[in-house]
Amino acid sequence: GPLVGVLALQGDVVDHQRVLTSVGARTRRVRRPEELVGLDGLVVPGGESSVIDRLSRRFALREPLVAALRAGLPAYGSCAGMIMLADALVDGLPDQQTFGGLDVTVRRNAFGRQVDSFETDIDLTGVDGLVHAVFIRAPWVERTGDGVEVLATAAGHPVAVRQGPLLATSFHPEATGDTRVHGLFVASL
Ligand code: GLN
Repeated sequence: GPLVGVLALQGDVVDHQRVLTSVGARTRRVRRPEELVGLDGLVVPGGESSVIDRLSRRFALREPLVAALRAGLPAYGSCAGMIMLADALVDGLPDQQTFGGLDVTVRRNAFGRQVDSFETDIDLTGVDGLVHAVFIRAPWVERTGDGVEVLATAAGHPVAVRQGPLLATSFHPEATGDTRVHGLFVASL
């Protein structure tokens, strides 16, 4: 199967590795620039985007990772990972940066203004049947550029988007035992 890196600075790295393995990918934890070499794809896990941002700069991973994304490395970002793949961020911490790539604006902790965490069943383009989606202090997408396809919405907001080789969800499929979103990503590699 394809070799998929899981950015392992912070967040639920092991859960993503487990799901990726179950859909036929090989996985590699990525903390250092040289671990980006030879990847077929990259998962940016959920966690805390401001911490992922800070550690990526401290470990000198930010620049090579951004370069790899610009060069077309396919990536899937979940929750904090969605934030990291977005070109623009609202309600980030002061000086918080994203890696970018997806022509979207996301709002950090967007649903959290009403309720921190919730679960709901959503329709997701490319997956048959409903997906049980777990949202934990999740972002939503506030603006989508022309090339961005909205795959799912919740409470009227886009929560799954795709643009070329980049996929992002506000929710955590790795937390439910549902392998289909990772399956969608791995099948595209
Ligand atoms: N609120 C977190 C952030 O800002 C995301 C939460 C998550 O990934 N479950 O990065």
